[in-house]
Amino acid sequence: MSDKAFMLSGLDGDRSWRLADYVKRGGYAALRKIIGEEMAPEVIIAEVKKSALRGRGGAGFPTGLKWSFMPRQFPGAKYVCCNSDEGEPGTFKDRDLLRFNPHLVIEGMIIAGYAMGCERGYNYIHGEIFEVYERFEEALAEARAAGYLGANILGSAFSFDLFAHHGYGAYICGEETALLESIEGKKGQPRFKPPFPASYGLYGKPTTINNTETFASIPYIINNGGDAFLNLGKPNNGGTKLFSVSGHVNRPGNYEVALGTPFPELLGLAGGMRGGRRLKAVIPGGSSAPVLPEAVIMDCTLDYDSISKAGSMLGSGAVIVMDESTCMVKALERLSYFYHEESCGQCTPCREGTGWLYRVIHRIEHGLGRPEDLDLLDSVSDNIMGRTICALGDAAAMPVKSFIKHFRSEFQYHVDNKRCLVPLEQQREGSK
Ligand code: SF4
Repeated sequence: MSDKAFMLSGLDGDRSWRLADYVKRGGYAALRKIIGEEMAPEVIIAEVKKSALRGRGGAGFPTGLKWSFMPRQFPGAKYVCCNSDEGEPGTFKDRDLLRFNPHLVIEGMIIAGYAMGCERGYNYIHGEIFEVYERFEEALAEARAAGYLGANILGSAFSFDLFAHHGYGAYICGEETALLESIEGKKGQPRFKPPFPASYGLYGKPTTINNTETFASIPYIINNGGDAFLNLGKPNNGGTKLFSVSGHVNRPGNYEVALGTPFPELLGLAGGMRGGRRLKAVIPGGSSAPVLPEAVIMDCTLDYDSISKAGSMLGSGAVIVMDESTCMVKALERLSYFYHEESCGQCTPCREGTGWLYRVIHRIEHGLGRPEDLDLLDSVSDNIMGRTICALGDAAAMPVKSFIKHFRSEFQYHVDNKRCLVPLEQQREGSK
């Protein structure tokens, strides 16, 4: 953990998730500050803009700008929603935030509600993580009992209540409009945009949706100022970020480091390469981000701009590390199966295309590849990208294009020789 960490630091107490422990760590000071000083919503939004906080769910959109889209003067209900529907392969940061520091997320959501004129919020929690949902419900009850949630918070005129909504485990419900549909009790399928949620969101009312980690960053900004948060990271990439490191490292887990940290430093925190093997490739931002070979990733710093310049995306910060024992065809086969399974089926390029990609990769992996298959994969990917309602189509196609771009010879070897370039023994050794 970096010495700049504030989301996952100081949590070594017996019950870090309890209100008493959170308050002891300085929790709810930011909420007390905005209420005590009767801070104007515009001032809060200006600080968030200044902080260069970018959405931590994957898109990296500037949070302050997003908040400014909310029509605060709109009469009637407006909502703030937290997207804790974390389900992409490699991503496991939000569940730890909710597990060990739920009040930080709750405080961030209350401040967001205050800044955007909302009286009600929902936290949509991924359906496959039960204990996190239960713990969040307990935290909500504690916050209500202490007067941080409900009517006239801390004796002010501001009222805000917050509810947890447990999903059913569909990956697509992490897409913001599918998430809204699911809260409304409908099938979780993405909506056409526009209209965007800021004008037509939950139950047709203005709604802002942010990721769990984004809300968890808000109390720091209020307590210390937007500039202080910005200075934790680098220009246009304010703050620290949680990175979920998985794969062939000695200590997989969540690490909070400043944006702009060199990749080798994160690899060092994760204990370096398992078994001393050579790094082969890294997916730096969750399974939908393009893969980067060792020579590229070792020169990158971990921030939105540097990773994007290298040809990938920082995404949710899920860093999947692959060593030399990895068969890239098998790795891509697994990823493409995931997207094929999780397509909601609404649009033809995604519904048919993800299945097509999976079947072609599957046959290459199983020694039945055809000479035209690599070009076919490229062409199917091109015909999915940009032609779907939501980003899942692109998410399925981008890994395919990048795996073939960087490891084409390995795919070609599979097609030509009907077997893997990486000896099976080596693959088995790597998966121990
Ligand atoms: Fe559904 Fe895929 Fe279309 Fe998204 S891109 S709406 S997941 S079919």
